[in-house]
Amino acid sequence: MNCFTLPTAARITGIETDNYRTKTFVLDAQLEAAPGQFIMAWLPRFDEKPFSLVSADPVTLMITAVGPFTRLVHELQVGDRLWLRGPFGRGFDAPATSRRVALVGGGYGVAPLLWLARRQLAQGAHVTAIIGARTEADLLYGPRFAALADASGVGVIPCASRLKTAAQARTGA
Ligand SMILES: Cc1cc2nc3c(=O)[nH]c(=O)nc-3n(C[C@H](O)[C@H](O)[C@H](O)COP(=O)(O)OP(=O)(O)OC[C@H]3O[C@@H](n4cnc5c(N)ncnc54)[C@H](O)[C@@H]3O)c2cc1C
Repeated sequence: MNCFTLPTAARITGIETDNYRTKTFVLDAQLEAAPGQFIMAWLPRFDEKPFSLVSADPVTLMITAVGPFTRLVHELQVGDRLWLRGPFGRGFDAPATSRRVALVGGGYGVAPLLWLARRQLAQGAHVTAIIGARTEADLLYGPRFAALADASGVGVIPCASRLKTAAQARTGA
């Protein structure tokens, strides 16, 4: 296990589509890191941007296409390379003795919570995850949290801040 002080190439080994503008990328790299830390992802001659670690072993990133860099990453395929630096930032400081833990995240703030939930479960905590997004369609990792709920009893509360209007609900928009 290690940390990358210089941009280090990693190959994409898996890509999953999470919603209409978010994909999760699994890379053939391992880092010494904790939930809550992030890496810098670099595409040579283009740009470098920060992304939270969904997992450090293997390095996994959840990337929402909002601009030039993230749209280009979305075009990458399995076998393509992404360069990584890090980890950076401080991981979550969850006390090992907590028995009941509420994890709250919105938007791509949900990215590290699945990993943190698994760590807290392993320490015997009772975990509730509150995951938020602007709309139901923007909600991230709902199915992954649901699978964790089925497997290990994690409580999951999905929240959307913009509810559909009656007209949208009728038309399915
Ligand atoms: C510590 C840290 C961790 C991060 N973790 C993640 C992560 O796990 N996954 C992830 O997808 N992003 C994450 N981000 C955000 C990501 O780095 C930015 O979205 C990045 O700037 C996108 O680069 P871009 O060139 O594609 O778009 P930019 O040109 O930088 O942004 C294009 C436009 O989109 C807006 N924008 C940026 N992000 C969002 C968003 N999420 N939703 C709506 N509008 C947005 C910007 O304000 C700008 O107007 C993180 C940022 C930080 C600082």
